[in-house]
Formats: sequence, C-alpha cells, structure tokens
Amino acid sequence: MYTYTLDELEALDAANVLKWAIRVYGSRFAIITAFQDEGMAIIDMATRMDRSVRVVTIDTGRLPAGTLEMIERVQSWYGIRIEVLRPDPDEVAGMVLRHGPNLFRDSVSQRRLCCEIRKVRPLARALEGLDAWASGLRRTQGIERAAAPRVDTSSPRLKLNPLADWTDGQLTEYLTRHRVPRHPLYAAGYASIGCEPCTRPAGSGREGRWWWEQGAAKECGLHFMPDGGARRELDILLEEILHAQRIHTVDNGNVGVRQEHPCRDSAGSLP
Ligand code: SF4
Repeated sequence: MYTYTLDELEALDAANVLKWAIRVYGSRFAIITAFQDEGMAIIDMATRMDRSVRVVTIDTGRLPAGTLEMIERVQSWYGIRIEVLRPDPDEVAGMVLRHGPNLFRDSVSQRRLCCEIRKVRPLARALEGLDAWASGLRRTQGIERAAAPRVDTSSPRLKLNPLADWTDGQLTEYLTRHRVPRHPLYAAGYASIGCEPCTRPAGSGREGRWWWEQGAAKECGLHFMPDGGARRELDILLEEILHAQRIHTVDNGNVGVRQEHPCRDSAGSLP
C-alpha cells in the first residue's frame, strides 16, 4: 500500500510524502527544524497525522532568544516533545579556547569551522539514528536550491524536502489558514533565521546570513601542503580541534589542554 517508485514519490504532494515517511519509517524518521516558516508548516502538517512524529532541533549555543522561546511554544501548541541536540562541549571549548567565541568574523574558514562544530557535526550524529528525515528546503530559497528534489536519495539516508516546489504564496497561505505559530523575528524584519550573531534583518532569502562575507570570500579557502596537495582550510582547522581534544582525553590527569597543530613543525610554523 505504501510502496512507490521514486517518480511516484516525487509526484506526491507535501502532506502525502510526509504521511508516507511517517508510516514507512516510524521512529526512524524525524523532522529537523530551526522553527522557520517552512519547518513550522511541516510540523503542523505532520502532527495532524501523528503526534508521535519525531521533531529534532539543534541548539548551537548561539541561538537568538526567540528560537529558544519557539521550542517551548511549539511543544505546548502541538502537545509534542522536541528533541534538542547540542554540540560536543569539548569541541566547542577547544574551538573557543583557540580562536575565541566570535571566530566566525575572522575568516570564511573559521566561520565554517564554527558551523561544522556547532551545527553540522550534531546534525550528523542525529542522522546516525535515522533512515529518513525531512527539512524545510524550498527551490525558491536560492540558486543553489533551485533544482532540489522532493525526495533526495543522494546520501545514505533519505532526505525529504516536502515543500520543495512551494512558492512563497503557498507557504503564507498554509500558515495563515492553519494559524501556525511563527518565529517572533519575522515580525522584526528577518527573512531567514539562524544563530543570533550571524543573522540580521534582510529583504529576502538568506541575504541576512553572514552578511559581512563578500563575493569570492564566501568560498572556502584552500591550504597548500608541502607535498603539493591542497586541503580545505576548514578541514585543517577542524582536525586541529579534534586532535587537541584527543590529547586532552589521553592526558586527562594533567591540568589544561596541550594545543598542538598537526601541520605545525616544532617551531610552530605552518608548512
Ligand atoms: S551560524 Fe554563526 S554562530 Fe552559528 S554555527 Fe555558524 S558561524 Fe557559528
């Protein structure tokens, strides 16, 4: 009854693709959300079908107060429990110790490191326990999302974008008709809502995210190694934090964390 080809799934509407995922995957399916309008429409739709549907969010430690309020509000509005994931405290501590709390202002690579530790790695840990998940991605949110499928099979876990083909008008109509709770920052002029220090009011889409990064600087930097190979600066920075964490684990009888860069020589210089 719930067996579809990929083309048939792609042709289902948002509600039916969610219904299919809830029935087929049960607790191995979750909605992952930051309580923007898209995520709220998906939560509203899914909880009308099944209140036990899993809803997961990531508290990066730098969220605006309005997002933390939304966790409480959504739980009480829908009578559900939201699973709140957080980054590894040792990874955050290592990053802040080495680069400071606002490292994201210093370079694109450091901004990506912060996102990697506070968002990407917790999300990866959440996905480990799932077979399928849903996000609020829509094709009109930017050029890089213009071809997003409703059912994305490009990674080991099925990713659903139930609202992939929804227009702004469809989304507004749904939220209004169903009186869906809205994040308070929309009323303050925000079009996209992320971490507090990295988001500001903006006209549309994700323009208000990391607004200080311009043009080519938004590209992830490459670091050239002595053997002529190139590695992303992000990967080197992340390895540095994880390496320091491993040393700390081994030396946990000592005071403090020995900070060593895997690519530094004994004089401390980068190759
Ligand atoms: S959005 Fe900003 S504060 Fe949040 S994880 Fe990314 S860089 Fe860090």
